[in-house]
Amino acid sequence: MEGNYANVIIDISHEKVDRPFQYKIPDELRGILRVGACVTVPFGAGNHLRKGYVIEITDRAEFAPDKLKYIAFVQEKDLTAEDYYIRLAAWMKEQYGSTMIAALKTVLPVKQKIKKLEKKSCKLLLSPEEAKVLYEDCLKKHQVAKARVLASLMEEEELPVSLLTGKLHVSMPTLNSLEKQGAIQIMTENNYRNPMEFVEDSKDARSESYGEKKCLSDEQSVILNDIISGYDEGERRTCLIHGITGSGKTEVYLSLIEEIVKRGKQAIVLIPEIALTYQTVLRFYRCFGSRVSVINSTLSKGEKYDQCERAKKGDIDVIIGPRSALFTPFPNLGLIIIDEEHENTYKSESMPKYHARETAIEIASMHDGFVVLGSATPSLESYSRAKSGEYRLYELTKRQAGGELPTVYTVDLREELKEGNRSIFSRQLYGLMEKRLRAGEQIILFLNRRGYAGFISCRACGHVMKCPHCDVSLSEHKNGKLVCHYCGHEEISVKSCPTCGSKYMLGFRAGTQQIEEALHKEFPEAKVLRMDADTTRTKDSYEEILNHFANGEADILVGTQMIVKGHDFPNVTLVGILAADLSLHINDYRAGERTFQLLTQAAGRAGRSNKPGEVVIQTYDPEHYSIVHASKQDYQAFYEEEMLYRELLLYPPAAHMLAILVASPQEEAGSELAHIIGNLIKENANDVGHGTYLIGPAPASVSRVNDIYRFMLYIKNKEYSKLVDIKNILELYIEERRQQEEWRKEVVQFDFDPMNSY
Ligand code: ADP
Ligand code: ZN
Ligand code: ZN
Repeated sequence: MEGNYANVIIDISHEKVDRPFQYKIPDELRGILRVGACVTVPFGAGNHLRKGYVIEITDRAEFAPDKLKYIAFVQEKDLTAEDYYIRLAAWMKEQYGSTMIAALKTVLPVKQKIKKLEKKSCKLLLSPEEAKVLYEDCLKKHQVAKARVLASLMEEEELPVSLLTGKLHVSMPTLNSLEKQGAIQIMTENNYRNPMEFVEDSKDARSESYGEKKCLSDEQSVILNDIISGYDEGERRTCLIHGITGSGKTEVYLSLIEEIVKRGKQAIVLIPEIALTYQTVLRFYRCFGSRVSVINSTLSKGEKYDQCERAKKGDIDVIIGPRSALFTPFPNLGLIIIDEEHENTYKSESMPKYHARETAIEIASMHDGFVVLGSATPSLESYSRAKSGEYRLYELTKRQAGGELPTVYTVDLREELKEGNRSIFSRQLYGLMEKRLRAGEQIILFLNRRGYAGFISCRACGHVMKCPHCDVSLSEHKNGKLVCHYCGHEEISVKSCPTCGSKYMLGFRAGTQQIEEALHKEFPEAKVLRMDADTTRTKDSYEEILNHFANGEADILVGTQMIVKGHDFPNVTLVGILAADLSLHINDYRAGERTFQLLTQAAGRAGRSNKPGEVVIQTYDPEHYSIVHASKQDYQAFYEEEMLYRELLLYPPAAHMLAILVASPQEEAGSELAHIIGNLIKENANDVGHGTYLIGPAPASVSRVNDIYRFMLYIKNKEYSKLVDIKNILELYIEERRQQEEWRKEVVQFDFDPMNSY
């Protein structure tokens, strides 16, 4: 990296961590020194040597260069876990755009004073004879408290301090004095909070029925052996395991971790919080016992902090958790596993908006470890990298516990309307439901509502109003206009279908509650459970509903995408997807991919045991490739077709996309800044229109939140680094203007390869 000056932060626990000090780079370090490097610098008037971290290298001197001091030296060896994380924060700041402090807070999450739980105990250092002599001596001197301590310790060689100071009314100074005399020793032991206790204490942990680790199948063994022998030969490329649900991915993860742990390394396992169920944790516990711990959002800060401490000290080898578990400070990290790697929750929604996949790969490379991704429906990003050889690709094609893939029927809702059926249930779904209820088998009804579905479509022919420029669906606004939220294109809402002339042009508003009501009307005998954001405000209620259903306490489970994860329901033989179009026409280029993922996962819920399963997909668009390929469970075919679309419109992963959010309490100011940013991009990226593509500015799809106005710009380029360059220019511009008291109320946020719509 070129540049004569380095900006260095000195004290990372300081509030003003974002205020760097500038130093000159000595000749021998020029071009070698990296951002994130740990350096020693003279600091303050006394020029005391202090440890610092380089957060920027620049050619711009902020003071007269002769007033600047030189960096003393770079610390290359004996890097602490913390040093690695500073380097990581620097990387995140550069890659994703944020302040250094926000990046540091992300990677060092509980950097605050947390009271440690300590356990102190007392140990007698004297022989019984010596103790007796001292005891009698104390009594003579009327030191009754000391005598009491000695008497107790003569009975029990080691006692908790709390017992002595509590029940025996001995003061700490008394104990300290005894220690000084050499009679006792006071020992301090950290008493870490352990979130696994609930598992350890459970009968399941001890019950034999959970069995020993499975013997891997041939398919599984081949993957395990290939990855591990590659690892032993120094291969560190990321692996992608593509395997349908139930194909035994988790079992492979467990074996991989075992091998890595045997080699003296540790492992991090990321699982979306919603899939982090008791059963999953138990499987890891059965394998690794107290050497595994778990992090989740229900843990207190103290508990989270303790898990970090346990990892640092080498008390555990494995941590399981959602995205933030990535920053567990293991001393010898060897492996990071990301299960369900396509999930949206792996993308952070606050600054820095990092993706766990890329961040995991960076962390692994800092530790000479590697990453394993797993999914039944890999993200297009990962699968395209696997196909190009950047990742190693492994396939698991069979269900380990048996069970055939279900039979899938697609129902054309336009036909239903033609036949006069306006109910939520098609005739076919209705018939199959009746059959299941009579047979005492269970049903899942799935409403794949996701994100913002403000699209309007024709109920007679299925036509959806789309943006002519961006090929995403237009959203209906209260003022009667249809708006594209990528480019701002607007048109007047239509009263009749431009394709077939039908008057049935409508938005889609059915929610889970309405479905529940319809069920009570149509099937009054059936017991119904509903699972959505309203009924699962706490994590426990989520598991409770799943447990009730698993125990057969209801016939029908209605819910949003939450229900397609986690549990196995062997008695479910019918899955109904009520309106596949709901996720198909959200105003987002990933709509097709998400629909494919959701439908595939939902379909995978039917027929998990020996009873064959059936799936009904209701849609207005039965020919859509996402629906066609999902109904055949054909990932390959879906991938090929979706990639063509991404390449045509330069959406990720065919290109990279940077979303820029401009938010302001004043609509005009926000709009003005968004336009200034648009112009800056045009000026600075000299290839706008061929290489760099700028879309917007336009109001965000949620254009006002809490009276803050939101505007969006999108830039696309095949090269990620070009987008980073633009981000850096914009960051610098805004920083400079802020110093001149401009744009102080406006917020500008960057989101690379966004996964959520704005
Ligand atoms: P995935 O993670 O791909 O959904 P799992 O690892 O959870 O799959 O495996 C699905 C089911 O198959 C589990 O009940 C698991 O215990 C069982 N299973 C996995 N591998 C084997 C094996 N080699 N032999 C027997 N059962 C297995
Ligand atoms: Zn129509
Ligand atoms: Zn558009």
